[in-house]
Amino acid sequence: IRDLSKAYQRGGQDIPVLLDIQMDVMAGDFVALMGPSGSGKSTLLNLIAGIDQPSRGTIEIGGVNIAHLSEGQLADWRAHNVGFIFQFYNLLPVLTALENVELPLLLTGLSARQRREHAEAALAMVRLTDRMDHYPNELSGGQQQRVAIARALVSDPTLIVADEPTGDLDRHTGEEVLSLLDELNRNLGKTIVMVTHDPKAAARARRMVHLEKGVLVDEDPITTAATTSPGKA
Ligand code: ATP
Ligand code: MG
Repeated sequence: IRDLSKAYQRGGQDIPVLLDIQMDVMAGDFVALMGPSGSGKSTLLNLIAGIDQPSRGTIEIGGVNIAHLSEGQLADWRAHNVGFIFQFYNLLPVLTALENVELPLLLTGLSARQRREHAEAALAMVRLTDRMDHYPNELSGGQQQRVAIARALVSDPTLIVADEPTGDLDRHTGEEVLSLLDELNRNLGKTIVMVTHDPKAAARARRMVHLEKGVLVDEDPITTAATTSPGKA
């Protein structure tokens, strides 16, 4: 990410939100993005995920500058390269868990049978095979978030972005969701950028970055020593 700025336009006014962000995320990294409410975390995450477009600057992911893609190209890029996880799960209430997970594959040209197989595999990965046919209101919050993780995984993206994925969960259930993200990072090599307010959740990442009023203020490497051997950080 280079020289990245974002202003929202509202009522003829520019609202500057991100100011000249420089940031590097390596493939296979797990980054926690922290900062006060309103500092621009969700805005930055949405830009990285191609949900929104920057006012200025470069976001190069896998050799593609997504800041230069048209809306149509961006939608296609998203469908193949990124999975999203939100605080409030954003599952469609009229669809079962399995149907929710199949949804992102509708844009990929897979057959119905292939879509089902991929969705079942993703639900197995989050250990919800026995809840496949449940509707969201028949699932606990933690289970709904695991369905959302399966949905983020199903198109096998290299990048997963999560906006406060544990924000609506109790400590124990939040831990389960974090363990799952950790597994995706370590075992499947997924690159993860996660917004969180919770220092304990952030400590599960490999690295923390802080936003303050739209500016990246510092970077703390969370030394792997902290997880492998308790001792020096
Ligand atoms: P929180 O921790 O509360 O989720 P955040 O760091 O994620 O906060 P953002 O949602 O990125 O913050 O918002 C950053 C700023 O941009 C806020 O001041 C917000 O009011 C403004 N903002 C966000 N979305 C829009 C929009 N669509 N139009 C205008 N201003 C917006
Ligand atoms: Mg936010």
